Amino acid sequence: MHFRELLDSDQFLIIGVLEPPKGTDTSELLRHADALRGRLQSVLVPEMRGAIMRMGSLGASSFLQQRGIETIMEVNCRDRNRLALQADILSASILGVKNLFVSAGDEIKGGDHIEAKPVNDLNIVSLLGMIKKLQKGGDLAGNDLAGIPQLCVGSEVNAGLSGGALELEIQEMEKKIRAGANYFFTPTMYDLKHFEGFLKRVAPFKVPIFPQVTILKSAGMARFMSRHMEGITIPEEVIERLGNAPDKKKEGNAIAADMIKGLKSLCELKCNGGKKVDRLEMESVSFKGDRKFREAVVERAGEEIFACYQCSKCSAGCPVAFAMDLLPHQVIRSVLFFKKEKVLSSRTIWICASCETCTTRCPNEIDIAKLMDVLRQMQRESGKKPHEPRVPLFHAVFLNAIKRSGRIHELSMLRTYFLKSGDAREKLKTGEWKNDVKLGLKMFLRGKLKVLPSRCEGVKEVRKIFARAEKGKRA
Ligand code: SF4
Ligand code: SF4
Repeated sequence: MHFRELLDSDQFLIIGVLEPPKGTDTSELLRHADALRGRLQSVLVPEMRGAIMRMGSLGASSFLQQRGIETIMEVNCRDRNRLALQADILSASILGVKNLFVSAGDEIKGGDHIEAKPVNDLNIVSLLGMIKKLQKGGDLAGNDLAGIPQLCVGSEVNAGLSGGALELEIQEMEKKIRAGANYFFTPTMYDLKHFEGFLKRVAPFKVPIFPQVTILKSAGMARFMSRHMEGITIPEEVIERLGNAPDKKKEGNAIAADMIKGLKSLCELKCNGGKKVDRLEMESVSFKGDRKFREAVVERAGEEIFACYQCSKCSAGCPVAFAMDLLPHQVIRSVLFFKKEKVLSSRTIWICASCETCTTRCPNEIDIAKLMDVLRQMQRESGKKPHEPRVPLFHAVFLNAIKRSGRIHELSMLRTYFLKSGDAREKLKTGEWKNDVKLGLKMFLRGKLKVLPSRCEGVKEVRKIFARAEKGKRA
C-alpha cells in the first residue's frame, strides 16, 4: 500500500528520516535504506536540514524511490523561487516521487554556508497553494500543464506551543489544510499531556499528525532545547533521568522508546497517526571517514561531543573566529563525521588561543578548548606538516627556554624563533627588522627587556615538572 492510502487507514505509521550524503557516494544511504526496508511505511528525505549543504532531496528521493523505497521529498521556501520550485516538483513527479513535505526550511545562520541568502519567494501556505494548482493542471502564472503531477502533500505544525501562540498556529494549520496539506509533522515531543491536549484541539480537522521523537544525548542538550527552541518542552523529570544516568546514550534511547510507546497509546486512542523517528538516530549513516579518529578524540578529550547539536554558540563567541578556516562548531561536527584529514590539516586548531570562551558558552558543557588541545597533539603525532608551522615552533622554543632556565629571556627566545622559522631572513629582506629594533629599544628603555639572561632559583624544580610531563607523555 502506498503512503497516501496508508494515511486513510487506522494503522499506526512509522516514518524514518534518511539524510542525503554530502557528496555523490550513495553507498551508505543505500545500506541504511536497505536496513529499513519493510520496517517503515515511508522515509522522509530532508532538504539540506540545518542549512547544511548536501545532495538535494529531489535527487536522493528519486534515487531511493527507484529502488523501491517510498519516500517523502522535502520542499522548502528557503532556497528556491517559484520558478525553480515548480520545475523541481514536476521533475520529482516524473522521477517517481509521490509524496511531498512542505516546510519553511531551517535558518541559514545555523548551517555551513552562512553567507547564503534565503529566497523565501513563497511562504508555506502559498507554496501549498501552488502545488494544489499544479495538481489541477495549471502553473502559478495560470498557464496549462501538459501532464499533471499526482502528489500527497504534508506540512509542519508546531504542536508544542501554548496559549495564544498555539491558537495562531492552529489557525495557520487550518489555512495549510485548505491549501492542500494532507498530514502534518510536529517538532520534537516530550510532553505527552500537552500533545494529548493538542490532538483533542485539532481532532475536528481529521488529519494525521506525526509527532517527532528526537533522541536526547545529554541533560544539557535537553535543557537547552526546552529553554531555547520554540514549542519544545522537555519535562524536568526527563532531564533529571538523563542527567543521573551513568550511560547517557543508553538512557537517551530508553527515554525515546518510552516516548514512542506513550505516543502510540495516545494515537491509538485518539486518531489515526503515527510517530516519526528523528534524524538524530540516523545522522552517522551518510558520512564516511576514519571512525577510529572520532573514538580516539572522544577518549583523549573525555568530552561528550555527541551532545553537540550545532547551536554554534561556541563559534559566535570565539574572538579569533574571523581568522579560522573551520569555525569551532564545524570542528565538532567534522570530528563527529570522522573527518580526520579536514580537522588535522585545518588552520583553526593552531589559531585557537585556548581562551575557553567557547567552553563557557556551550550549553552542553563541552570543553571545546580542551578538544582543540587534543587535536593539536594528534596533529603533531601524525608527523605531518601543520597548517601553521610557526605556532608549534613558537610553543617549542618557549617551552625549551623555560626548561633551560626556569624563566623566559625574550631576546634569546626570539633570536632562536626567528632563526628557526626563517623569519630572520625574511625580515632582513623586507627591512622589517628596523621596526623590531625600534620596538625593542622602546621596551628596553622602559625596563621591559633584559640584555642578559638569568636563571630562576627553582630551575631544578621546573626541570622535574618537565621530566614528569615527558614521562607521562611516553606512558
Ligand atoms: S578556546 Fe579557541 S576556539 Fe574556543 S573561543 Fe577561544 S580561541 Fe575560539
Ligand atoms: S559545541 Fe556546544 S556551543 Fe558549540 S555548537 Fe556544539 S552544542 Fe553548541
